[in-house]
Amino acid sequence: MSVEVSKRFPSRFWAKVLSWPAAACLATVVVGFSALAAGQVMHAAYITRWPTCEKVVVLTFDDGPDPVSTPRTLEILKSRDVPAMFFVSGNRSATIPRINYRAYDEHHIVASHSRSHRNMRGFSADQQIEELYLGEADVVKQLGGDLTGRVRYLRAPAGRISPLALLRIWQDGGVYVAWSSAYDKRTFFEVAPQAERVLKYVESIRPGDVILMHDGSPHAEQTLEDLPLIIDALRDRGYTFVTLDDLRKP
Ligand SMILES: [Zn+2]
Repeated sequence: MSVEVSKRFPSRFWAKVLSWPAAACLATVVVGFSALAAGQVMHAAYITRWPTCEKVVVLTFDDGPDPVSTPRTLEILKSRDVPAMFFVSGNRSATIPRINYRAYDEHHIVASHSRSHRNMRGFSADQQIEELYLGEADVVKQLGGDLTGRVRYLRAPAGRISPLALLRIWQDGGVYVAWSSAYDKRTFFEVAPQAERVLKYVESIRPGDVILMHDGSPHAEQTLEDLPLIIDALRDRGYTFVTLDDLRKP
């Protein structure tokens, strides 16, 4: 009999513990803690916009360096004393490394946009990490290996990154940078006159936006035409241009 009771005890115990209300409560706690932990990881390692009411924006440029449009972009930024973040591909950089160094030397942030800029759809987390870190190694090498103390910012081609890869980036102390305002998407195919196009874009900007532009794409010409007007119009509205390094300072 005692054997029978001891055999039945656990099933009764767990039946009570796992009764519907208790199970619901347990599930809520587990999901809550998981969400909290995931939220902390996401907040630390994945940035789409900076949570602020201050009128600050982060300019980011993808797909460079380009031998023509990147130097022109740098000239515009220099003439207006605007800092930016450049997400470059390792392979493109290898052919024109001096442009990355110039951007770095002019106090912009230069970071990895992968080595090959391949479409990473279907890549495993390990493959995504490998592409991003190889690109980072290329950039560090081109900048003289002098990135000590700098944050490891990363951005995948087309923004395709898996949760597991994000977790790995967070564990490695890196920051994945997405965006909250894609200038190109809004304006590539617009036929509106430039002033109207720029006004429409500028009015869409909100405090803390991370703006995505491209200095290394076939659409760079329009970006170069609009960039000075966008900078001036945002400044007229009280915006300040910063990098994530500026925002992350304690
Ligand atoms: Zn890209």
